[in-house]
Amino acid sequence: MILRFRCQDGTFRIEVQPTDDISALYQKLLEVLPKNIEGTSILLSDKPANGATRVLHELSGQHVRDVGLNHGDMLFLTYKEAAANGAPSTAPTAPTANRIDGKPVKPDEDVSESYTYTTNAHTSAILNPWEKITPDPVDELLDKQDGKIYRPKDQKMCRHGSKGMCDYCMPLEPYDAKYMAEKKIKHLSFHSYLRKINTATNKPELKSSYMPPLSEPFFRVKSNCPSGHPAWPAGICTKCQPSAITLQQQEFRMVDHVEFSDPGLIDTLLDFWRRSGSQRMGYLYGRYVPYPEVPLGVKAVVEAIYEPPQRGETDGVALTLPWEGAAAVDDVAALCGLRKIGVIFTDLTDDGTGQGTVICKRHIDSYFLSSLEIALAARLQAEHPHPSKWSDSGNFGSNFITCVLSGNPDGNIDIAAYQASNTAVEMVRADIIEPSADPGLMLVRNEEDKSDNPSAARYVPEVFYRRINEYGASIQENAKPAFPVDYLLVTLTHGFPTESKPLFTTPNGGFPIENREVVGVVQDISTVGRHLGLSKGGQVAVDVVSDFHLLCFLHNFGILDKDEERLLAKVATDHDVNDGFALSQTGGWATLLTICQESGESNLSFGGRRTFSFLPSASRKRRYEDEEMGGTPQPHASQGERLGSNGEGSDSTAAANAIQEGGGGGGEVGSLVADGGDRKRRSLGGSGGSEEDAASTASNGDERVLTKKMRRISLK
Ligand SMILES: [Zn+2]
Ligand SMILES: [Zn+2]
Repeated sequence: MILRFRCQDGTFRIEVQPTDDISALYQKLLEVLPKNIEGTSILLSDKPANGATRVLHELSGQHVRDVGLNHGDMLFLTYKEAAANGAPSTAPTAPTANRIDGKPVKPDEDVSESYTYTTNAHTSAILNPWEKITPDPVDELLDKQDGKIYRPKDQKMCRHGSKGMCDYCMPLEPYDAKYMAEKKIKHLSFHSYLRKINTATNKPELKSSYMPPLSEPFFRVKSNCPSGHPAWPAGICTKCQPSAITLQQQEFRMVDHVEFSDPGLIDTLLDFWRRSGSQRMGYLYGRYVPYPEVPLGVKAVVEAIYEPPQRGETDGVALTLPWEGAAAVDDVAALCGLRKIGVIFTDLTDDGTGQGTVICKRHIDSYFLSSLEIALAARLQAEHPHPSKWSDSGNFGSNFITCVLSGNPDGNIDIAAYQASNTAVEMVRADIIEPSADPGLMLVRNEEDKSDNPSAARYVPEVFYRRINEYGASIQENAKPAFPVDYLLVTLTHGFPTESKPLFTTPNGGFPIENREVVGVVQDISTVGRHLGLSKGGQVAVDVVSDFHLLCFLHNFGILDKDEERLLAKVATDHDVNDGFALSQTGGWATLLTICQESGESNLSFGGRRTFSFLPSASRKRRYEDEEMGGTPQPHASQGERLGSNGEGSDSTAAANAIQEGGGGGGEVGSLVADGGDRKRRSLGGSGGSEEDAASTASNGDERVLTKKMRRISLK
């Protein structure tokens, strides 16, 4: 049985047998508690305050079971330090009340109530972190649902009246394996999985106290080893070293489905590739909502794609992570009720048939997400943890998604959506794996390899995976030196709504996309004037400002104050003409219009005192007709359309070189190589062998790349 203890130095679990003597428990506690405490001073209590309190060592000689301790019980400990000079440092009834951030607080110090229950800030010792988290709204919604799969009365099998119930019509649990197979749902939703394991962990009928059912994988050497040896890498023991890893397909997925609110989002991204022949990457902004197609499922709804500064190549992109303007874009998104939910990139090569079709590189016999891309996905997921009150650390997995636009077996452009598994994320965090030149294989790192970071102390546990051999038997294989990437990812479904109702409804193709100077697309203040229709008298529908790219530009332009920006975001997302009127009356908006008029283009002038005003929203639906430019953006799937010519690619290369020179310094400049057919590894201006660790936090300023030097390896 497991007993849980909470004290001023953190919480921990101890496993004992019900028939163990209390003295065994006492010894185990001494091993995990700080070395400088007086063992005989340990008081055991069943409540944090005003509970029944006993001196622990005086219970020796009794069985754990006989003192009324049960599996899962939470107990509260207080104790004195050995050299406490007789002054009791801890009041038994309020164990945490006199410590802040691990430091004792003298009684005469003024400590506000809100701080008195804070323990020290080390992540390993946060007091019950699952109680402190702010859950995602979608998780709160799903936590409230019973999740049962209701079934109608079975006409053949049910032999009871309309009010009756039997095995054939009883509601199913959300994780019912047969139902999942019938509906061809490949992975349990996170919440179904949670219900499934919570049923096994917490049994209310046993009246044991709550234990968070989820634990994140942890493959690093534990800090503060209780054995008291020198800290890793000087010392290691069985208590602090990570145990062997056995890879298997992750049973569940954190997000089940990705929905792009409008095909235009994809088309706009593809447009860059069509114009330049270079690949493109963008961050997805949107929200998470329940997805009823999967029991207790979650879907990510994408409302905008922001393209950060990057250098496109024909076989990948290179970019800085994190990019400088990231926080500004996140702020604008937050004003619109959105956040960064994932990443999307293209991997497209015209197949040369002149039919507008592309090469299918990713399929069952090659790979779906390359080892390099999985490492990137894992890293981004690690940077976007998913809070969960069901996890002992307060976090579990990530809802960050990774989408690829590439050729399907029919040669058409298609979307595929993935997540790295939680195991993959922790393996990247623990620096256990690295991408290989073969996109289908991930390398297990070599402990002795210090080529990338001479000071790195790396502990690589044994890694195994199971596969079906040629005789149909399931066998365990050592994953060193490399293993198939399939073990590290889960697949999500994707789609578009049957009727598009995007949040952003800007007409006429929208405001120019950011960071596209390389294809001659420029954002500046005169573009704003044109977009707002100033040349046509300034009478425009509120939809013109319903454009995420315009909002980001105006945010960085910095004319509107916080309230005006909030109002602008409201107009952009609610499409209410009354808000538009209020916005047009603000000082910031007037200043913006003045700057637009003074931006040099004479046809933007109002010619005296003509007023600008918003008209009611023309359409809640994004329109494709483009009166001014005559272009007609194609929705997703571009059959029959001429793909970006290779001739234009040279322009982008020239510009890319300019960017590279401007970037200065830094490690090797490589690119996120979507190395499909030719498996070419591109490396620009690199000295080799001195790249930064992709898993470490980025240094500021230098151009960072998504790639690492990869060793070629082949498996027989
Ligand atoms: Zn029945
Ligand atoms: Zn140790």
